[in-house]
Amino acid sequence: MRHINKNPEPPELHRFRRANRRATYEHLPDMLRINIRSCLVQEQLYSCCYCGNHINESNDYSHLEHFKPRHHFPNLSLDYNNMLASCNSMNSCGKKKDSSYDSQLISPLDPLCSLHFLYTPEGEVKPNPNHNPDSARITIEMLNLDCDRLRGLRRRAMQGIGLGLCDLSADEVEQLLHSFEKPSSAQLPAFSTAIVSALKQVLHELEG
Ligand SMILES: [Zn+2]
Repeated sequence: MRHINKNPEPPELHRFRRANRRATYEHLPDMLRINIRSCLVQEQLYSCCYCGNHINESNDYSHLEHFKPRHHFPNLSLDYNNMLASCNSMNSCGKKKDSSYDSQLISPLDPLCSLHFLYTPEGEVKPNPNHNPDSARITIEMLNLDCDRLRGLRRRAMQGIGLGLCDLSADEVEQLLHSFEKPSSAQLPAFSTAIVSALKQVLHELEG
């Protein structure tokens, strides 16, 4: 999970809320929903808010996710700070979470969210024992972030840069870390946060 820096809400949403004080998400016109989702996908650098897989603005690849579900928090259904873009996988992330919520769920808006999780070159995700592991455990389970499909995708992404396939030198790992920590394009590579976590552990072992 990667920290998301929220932009101000889109002006169209601001105008809609001002003109429709009692409106909820159900009242949003389709075009406005599409516009908001597009803003979310761009501010997340084309990365699912939970798993970090690549997404785009298409209905087939992403949906507008409410971190605090509309069903339980209707007063937050038009709050841009409660809106995220999730991938559309049915067995993980926003679709899996659906209307579930737990106050311990780790939010991608938490600047320290990535510290709660550790990733291995094999693609597993585990709670970081040093950062409130109970919250991470609940989050991994509720979003099904350690499912076989995501493990396999993360493993392949890591193998794509040589992690787990060959012995990388400390210099090579540092160069890879730099390129994944400071992406130069408006789109993040898939699973970049998981890759950074695994690279840091490999570097720690090489230097230890
Ligand atoms: Zn996802």
